[in-house]
Amino acid sequence: MIISMRPHATREEIEHVCERIREFGYKVHSIEGEERVVIGVVGVGDVTACLESLEATPGVERAMRISAPYKFVSREFKRERSIIKVNGIEIGGQEFVVMAGPCSVESEKQIMETAEGVAEAGARALRGGAFKPRTSPYDFQGLELEGLKLLRKAREATGLAIVTEIMSDRDVDLVAEYADCMQVGARNMQNFALLKSLGGCGRPVLLKRGMSSTIKELLMSAEYIVAHGNPHVILCERGIRTFETATRNTCDIAAIPVLDELTHLPVVLDPSHATGKRSLVPAVSRAGVAIGADGLILEVHPCPEKAVSDGAQSLTLAGFRQMMRDLQPYIRLWTESRLSRATRAVALPESPVAV
Ligand code: PEP
Ligand code: MN
Repeated sequence: MIISMRPHATREEIEHVCERIREFGYKVHSIEGEERVVIGVVGVGDVTACLESLEATPGVERAMRISAPYKFVSREFKRERSIIKVNGIEIGGQEFVVMAGPCSVESEKQIMETAEGVAEAGARALRGGAFKPRTSPYDFQGLELEGLKLLRKAREATGLAIVTEIMSDRDVDLVAEYADCMQVGARNMQNFALLKSLGGCGRPVLLKRGMSSTIKELLMSAEYIVAHGNPHVILCERGIRTFETATRNTCDIAAIPVLDELTHLPVVLDPSHATGKRSLVPAVSRAGVAIGADGLILEVHPCPEKAVSDGAQSLTLAGFRQMMRDLQPYIRLWTESRLSRATRAVALPESPVAV
């Protein structure tokens, strides 16, 4: 159940509602939204009686039963699509947002050259890992704090927002100091301690789908972050493992419209990890635009053959510029359809969701 309080509900009203919920034998999860307080209710009990009673309680705007196992992130809970702001850039809104950069931050020269190149070509955010989750413990693990400082320098030089990976709950405060958006990688999608601590990190989170995770599991992980207090979550499809070996992962392109049906959160596509192959990135990016993703996050390196990680799937700067040019007609169509969808959405009746 979800209880949405009126915008100016008082502390006393909120506390009274929480008390009533507990009296019915349920547990309370409270979220302070920007405009209103939303209370998540979990547990077993007499749902109908509880809903009826709460709807009549002062300060309550709406009490809803959510049938999906993920509550706050479901479309049932919120019908309008969420727009997540990353340093002023709106993801999930009227702009198709491209985030680009190297797999790993390697040196000042590498990150500055990449940042300037991708900004010039139209990227809005710079990606780059300072903490790297590597399959082998002998591989490059990232520059850590030094890498974060280099990302900050690149932001100062270009104005690009910074998206960088967080691997451990121990590093949340440190990474949040430097990042505009905290990336949770595929390998950590079910690191529940990390997800819980991101609930209080004060930054938007880009949550990548685990390589062996279902869409439902991805949404349950997003639910962890939101239920722990942070509603600013962007989902990312980055390919999943299948029997197919021609590509590094299998790009589950249908996940994008599936997610659009199930959740109000924005979804971006990572064509680099989805394919593992530079030559395939432009075509899969086009597919992402055409199918209605909210943006792309992809790997670009000034000299991919020298990259310490993921060189084979990284575009060169020239390749990225070309791809951005080639994407323009698709992005124009994307923008038109976004605008018409926004107009249509206004015309729809209020909340068709069953209470
Ligand atoms: C990355 O973005 O460099 C990365 C490690 O991606 P993923 O977690 O999707 O494998
Ligand atoms: Mn990578």
